[in-house]
Amino acid sequence: MYSLDDTIVAISTALGEGGIGIVRMTGPEATEILLRVFVSGPGSQRPKAGYTAPSFQPRTLHYGHIVEPNTAERVDEVLAVHMPAPRTYTRQDVVEIHGHGGFVALQRIQALCLGQGARQAEPGEFTARAFLNGRLDLAQAEAVLDVVQARTEVALQAAVGQLGGLLSDRVRSVRAALVDILAYLEATIDFVEDEIPERDIGPDLRDASTSLQRLVAEADRGIIYRQGVRTAIVGRPNVGKSSLLNRLLRTGRAIVTDIPGTTRDTLEETLNLQGIPVVLVDTAGITSETGDPIEYLGVERSRATLAQADLVLLVIDASQPLTDADHDIAALVGSKPAIVVPNKIDLLENSWWSNTAVGAAAGCPRRESQLQCTVLDASCVPISARTGEGLEHLEAAIIETVLSGQISASEAPLVTSPRHRQALNQALDHVDGARAGYGAGQLTDMLAIDVTAAVNALGEITGQTASEDLLETIFGSFCIGK
Ligand code: GDP
Repeated sequence: MYSLDDTIVAISTALGEGGIGIVRMTGPEATEILLRVFVSGPGSQRPKAGYTAPSFQPRTLHYGHIVEPNTAERVDEVLAVHMPAPRTYTRQDVVEIHGHGGFVALQRIQALCLGQGARQAEPGEFTARAFLNGRLDLAQAEAVLDVVQARTEVALQAAVGQLGGLLSDRVRSVRAALVDILAYLEATIDFVEDEIPERDIGPDLRDASTSLQRLVAEADRGIIYRQGVRTAIVGRPNVGKSSLLNRLLRTGRAIVTDIPGTTRDTLEETLNLQGIPVVLVDTAGITSETGDPIEYLGVERSRATLAQADLVLLVIDASQPLTDADHDIAALVGSKPAIVVPNKIDLLENSWWSNTAVGAAAGCPRRESQLQCTVLDASCVPISARTGEGLEHLEAAIIETVLSGQISASEAPLVTSPRHRQALNQALDHVDGARAGYGAGQLTDMLAIDVTAAVNALGEITGQTASEDLLETIFGSFCIGK
């Protein structure tokens, strides 16, 4: 597990070329090591062993150079700061060296620190130290990664709120109430009845259950904001999938990230729909270059993309009769949430769709509803990727399908992680178990078992009862330097 006694170092900024890059160190020797490789001011003289300039104020940026201690070679011109324990991120001495943001320069600075006795930090080790030293609880530590990875403003707000302790406070207060109930239960087990004033724990258990229910209820929405919704755009070749993707990205107010597809043939782009990161996955390159589309290729690629999707946009060509491939792809959708999207309605003059409110509940004409039957519960939104008609309705339908009736509140959600939802659900089950048991006059020992389990489940969120394995899994998912 993580040791706290050594000094760790890592490049904390993203790799690549940038204006500046930061090498960060923390641990008992961090400041000492800095002083061995840093010379303040414009000079390039050798750092003097053990010498601390009287002006080397903590929490102040100092201009100078990182210098190879043996040869006095200047490695980079930098700003350096040292922050003494305990009022730091890790509660230990922290040093930051702000160098030029080039890979070689940062690597050399890091190598010098390693040469002076620091050790390469493990992924997430700075934050792990912050947690182990009590600077952050576990939910807050996890929020650090969520802040870094937030893909929309709502996701960012939620992460910053969690980092500030919003979720932790709520969880702690429910946990404290349960600990109080537990103390009472255990006292009644240990002492003769008349020594303990009798207390009705029914209302307390009910309140705990209500609080937990509220948190669980908003978890689904929160998880969507944090993780995004993988939306597969499927359909046979030439129905307009790529055109739709491009159109959605253009109308979308913000393209927030550009993630290379997981497979060679897919293209992923993230669209921000009212704060929900919608990761659109298109099966690119389905049309063969000769302009001779191969139908089965559409089916095969759709199959692969569909496997990982949370939501499916099944695109069909409204200007042509449905083909077997359309039906085959529709059959692949199975029970996933889906929207049937007849495209190219601009090619249909004065026809069925102009008489139906586009995208409204009136839905599609008979021909498409045939397809809807194969796709369970799919709504139908006709569009033209060429003119943009119907796009607004499609976006609204995506949000509605994703949130499935949950209000798209502008308020940032409190619970955004599946791990937290699971722990909350466990706690809720045990609290409700205890409630039922109490109502039925169950033995106090049995009630105490349930309440203890609930207390422990909540402790896993804040880290009071988290196992080492859990900590390793959580911090292992961080990047190095965080
Ligand atoms: P994909 O193979 O499903 O990705 O289809 P594309 O997006 O490459 O589109 C295939 C062809 O249909 C292209 O020539 C597009 O210009 C055309 N197309 C796409 N959407 C529309 C539309 O809404 N109206 C019309 N008239 N043509 C469209």
